[in-house]
Amino acid sequence: MSTDTLTIATQPVATSRISELDFNNIEFGKIFSDHMLVADFKNGAWQNPEIVPYGNMSLSPATSAIHYGQAIFEGMKAYRGINGDILLFRPYDNFHRLNISAERMCIPPISEEIFMQGLEQLLRIDAAWVPPTAGSALYIRPFMFATDDFIGVRPSSNYRFAIFSCPVAAYYSAPLRVAIETNYVRSAEGGAGFAKAAGNYGAAMYPARQMQEKGYHQLIWTDHKEHKYIEESGTMNVMFVIDGVLVTPAVSSTILAGITRDSVLTLARDMGYKVEERRVSVDEVVAAHKAGKLQEAFGTGTAATIAQIATINYNGEDLDLPAIESREVSNRVAAELDKIKTGQAPDPYNWVQKISL
Ligand SMILES: *Cc1c(COP(=O)(O)O)cnc(C)c1O
Repeated sequence: MSTDTLTIATQPVATSRISELDFNNIEFGKIFSDHMLVADFKNGAWQNPEIVPYGNMSLSPATSAIHYGQAIFEGMKAYRGINGDILLFRPYDNFHRLNISAERMCIPPISEEIFMQGLEQLLRIDAAWVPPTAGSALYIRPFMFATDDFIGVRPSSNYRFAIFSCPVAAYYSAPLRVAIETNYVRSAEGGAGFAKAAGNYGAAMYPARQMQEKGYHQLIWTDHKEHKYIEESGTMNVMFVIDGVLVTPAVSSTILAGITRDSVLTLARDMGYKVEERRVSVDEVVAAHKAGKLQEAFGTGTAATIAQIATINYNGEDLDLPAIESREVSNRVAAELDKIKTGQAPDPYNWVQKISL
């Protein structure tokens, strides 16, 4: 990766907490690596990037982000390669997307130096936290939020950028039961649905909980105007295989451009599958199911890579999809993606960035 040109002061922990971690039994999202990167935006510039022990931040009760939601984040993973290397998957894409979200939320962009060199040094100091067990990874959470202690409504003058990480086990979930949402919306044209903004998540929790109470894991969002076109599945992009063609909603101002989404489409195209990015109507998916042509449905995102969908509910009717083992496209692409991420397959797209230790 990049050569270090930036000075990032480091305060190492006195004693690592890594002995608290059982790599064979990682609890999701609870044990954080020893260090975090922090930088602050003040007097018109990002300054003093620093690596410090992971720990609480002290905030004024008037902190602008808490009240008005000027807060964004990213999610990415580092993998342990076969010969012990630490491999980051498409980190520049996360960097670019963070700044796309930042622009939409009036947050000043972070520099590539602070993001990439900070990340690299953080991974170097916390290298032991990248799990060696197959399928597991170090989940990395970069985020930015407004820090003015001022309760007037306006873009903050001060911000904090930080990155912390936590080891995560191989993602396993039973195939999902999802329901098509025809009442609530996640995102509307002209809104901020394409940004990884904190408030998008907060506002999605109530509709998701309503669906969970009806026995579904997740919902499928539809367009805000007519509820006719499919957008995303929960916090993942969504894809279908209809009659051998991989079909997914085209990205737009209402859909978040997932990096996993792009990776899956790229691999599928290169494997020779026909791929279509376009509007996908609920009617088309239901009709394909009725005709026996809906072969696969799945969500894509960093956490799961591919989360298989077993059942889609629409207007009270459960549509049951073919067995997971029969799903050629998603199974092939998932396996290949996993090999690329861990250095077991060639990386013709230059997606993987090795951290020199
Ligand atoms: C993060 C996210 C995704 C998936 O993006 P990846 O880059 O693949 O992790 C999809 N939809 C929403 C709404 C998201 O926030």
